[in-house]
Amino acid sequence: MGRSKRFAIIGGGIGGLSLAIAMQRKGFQVTVFESAASIAPLGAGLGLAANAVRAFIEIGISEDVLEAGSVLKKLSIKNQRGKVLATTDSQKISSKYNVVNNFTIHRADLHEVLLRHLKEGTLQLGRTCVDFVQFASGVKITFQDGSSAEADYVIACDGVHSIFRRKLLPESLPRYAGYTCWRAVIDDVPPSLDLNETSETWGAAGRFGIVPLTKNRLYWFACVNAGENDQQKSAYGVKDLLKHFAKFHSPIPEILQNTKDRQLIWNDIIDIKPLKRFSFGKILLIGDAAHATTPNMGQGACMAIEDAAILANMISDSQSVDETFLAFERKRIHRTTTIVNDSWQLGRIAQWENKLLITLRDSLLRLTPPSVAEKRIRFIQDVSFQ
Ligand SMILES: Cc1cc2nc3c(=O)[nH]c(=O)nc-3n(C[C@H](O)[C@H](O)[C@H](O)COP(=O)(O)OP(=O)(O)OC[C@H]3O[C@@H](n4cnc5c(N)ncnc54)[C@H](O)[C@@H]3O)c2cc1C
Repeated sequence: MGRSKRFAIIGGGIGGLSLAIAMQRKGFQVTVFESAASIAPLGAGLGLAANAVRAFIEIGISEDVLEAGSVLKKLSIKNQRGKVLATTDSQKISSKYNVVNNFTIHRADLHEVLLRHLKEGTLQLGRTCVDFVQFASGVKITFQDGSSAEADYVIACDGVHSIFRRKLLPESLPRYAGYTCWRAVIDDVPPSLDLNETSETWGAAGRFGIVPLTKNRLYWFACVNAGENDQQKSAYGVKDLLKHFAKFHSPIPEILQNTKDRQLIWNDIIDIKPLKRFSFGKILLIGDAAHATTPNMGQGACMAIEDAAILANMISDSQSVDETFLAFERKRIHRTTTIVNDSWQLGRIAQWENKLLITLRDSLLRLTPPSVAEKRIRFIQDVSFQ
């Protein structure tokens, strides 16, 4: 059903492009309207869990995606002295569940793969949607340059600041998590780094994550408690971060020393309090527009890719797109709400500054049996695409 309908996808991020590919492969007509004027290489890295890999298998592009990134063998949480508090053997988990876990990729490389699989002429750049009106028969979209477009259905993949969500649910504003974040990708990797491991180091000064990428590159992120839009922190350069993380174990200081100020990407960590609706007649919200989450579980992009694979399957199998939008909402609300809430809680604990609480947390982490981590992994990857 719906193959004669025109679908407008707003936003050419990971969610929008994945959806466009998934729908085109099922024979639908889609146009992606993206506000960026050009495809500029995006700076940071990304960790993708098994659910995202399974979604790419479902869409049919997993081989190319996997070829563009790395599969790492373990995932560890450490204290600031470098003592391992918890480790997940990703290789073991991957072979047990027969799907790749702990996959890392540079965002620009993922974008390049997605763009390669998109039919020519699908993506319209420089098209910032500023308003829309919904009719019984479809949606009229207006762009910043005064132009407009009409579609039978709109799927809003326009991210955490979604203009669609802002108009449909004006009370649903991004909420600040209480910590701010710097990220960078560097190609000057300290020789002592274990290239098979993704790690997070939790200490009183904050959190530092290390994610090896292909081509001898490394993605790191650092989260520090701060007031919202803290001007002093926003001006931090590498020297300030070095001072801030001075007590963190090697090779964290070396990684910072090898980073240039111009490589730093800074932003406050925000999410959206879980919504009760994603579907609004001819308009559906997916990805961050629907369920932006804090990055603590590395699940924001994973859920956007899941959304894309599931929605394309559901529309393809259904007699009515309107009903499919509602069915998608029913299917996705519980899972995405659970992940957004769990990630929010995990972030609060990971950002503790109180020494006593940190000692307690670290002991609990050390004592937690691997079966607990495995249960969480099972939940994450246990997604049905029908
Ligand atoms: C610090 C940090 C680390 C993260 N790490 C991970 C990770 O390791 N793993 C993971 O799975 N997720 C991670 N995420 C989350 C992930 O980046 C997002 O969940 C994911 O990018 C969401 O994809 P999306 O397509 O829904 O939205 P976006 O990627 O935000 O894309 C939205 C697109 O819409 C466009 N757009 C916006 N407004 C308009 C408009 N009005 N008109 C037209 N176009 C518009 C934008 O230009 C953009 O291209 C992280 C996030 C942060 C902040």
